[in-house]
Amino acid sequence: MTVKTRPTAQSTNDAATPVIEIRNLHKSYGQLEVLKGIDMVAPKGHVISLIGSSGSGKSTLLRCCNLLEDSQQGEITFEGEPVKWRGEGLNRQPADRSQVTRIRTNLSMVFQQFNLWSHMTILQNVMEAPVTVLKRDPVEVEAKAREYLEKVGIGDKADAWPAMLSGGQQQRAAIARALCMEPRALLFDEPTSALDPELEQEVVKVIKALADEGRTMLLVTHDMRLAADVSDHVVFLHQGRTEEEGPPDAVFGNPQTARLQGFLSAGG
Ligand code: ADP
Ligand code: MG
Repeated sequence: MTVKTRPTAQSTNDAATPVIEIRNLHKSYGQLEVLKGIDMVAPKGHVISLIGSSGSGKSTLLRCCNLLEDSQQGEITFEGEPVKWRGEGLNRQPADRSQVTRIRTNLSMVFQQFNLWSHMTILQNVMEAPVTVLKRDPVEVEAKAREYLEKVGIGDKADAWPAMLSGGQQQRAAIARALCMEPRALLFDEPTSALDPELEQEVVKVIKALADEGRTMLLVTHDMRLAADVSDHVVFLHQGRTEEEGPPDAVFGNPQTARLQGFLSAGG
């Protein structure tokens, strides 16, 4: 297992304040309760992996964190700032749109299917949100965007169209796009699941490098080796509840519950 260096605090916030804190989160789609009281803390510089069978609620939890989904009960706190709600239950919504935008732009998401804009070059894809959403200076953003493309190993693809790239290159472009927002945390939802095994490794390498430099990350993955390598803490979800959690050596080396044992022996 790689030994991670701890980051120096990048913001004026107290380094002890978690980037994301979730308490007793409940989320339903109509009658279907998908999250049944989840607690989760992502301290600054830590990697939290979410594992579990398909349908256990991993993507929903990630999407609730950055307020892409509403939730009906429980608290979500971003860098010590609780999300403000109005209404209750199925009518509960974030009360402050500017808070939602601030939180969402600080928690950049990387999706399984890359979701690059096909009508924009790779460079334009990476520059788009910082320029249009954050209103940053395009000249400065372009310099940053090229830096991040270099960082993920596709600096030479800046002027290519997404369709010209392999899946692994597209996913690395999507990671550069997330990084260019200079977020407080990166949220990955199965970032390697759509890739052929030989392309998977080039994305795994980038994710490991980001973990090593002390980025705060929430990582939903089916890749147990990746989770074991990069995580500070692993959460095993089962039917919307945390069935078991702990440091990776305990979760993978000495699972306590029959469900986690079964999940791991089935190959994750
Ligand atoms: P995972 O990412 O762990 O596979 P999800 O969070 O995607 O699980 O889904 C959890 C449960 O919520 C599943 O039963 C799924 O069918 C359901 N679900 C997910 N998204 C929606 C939606 N938009 N509408 C209704 N049900 C949904
Ligand atoms: Mg999912």
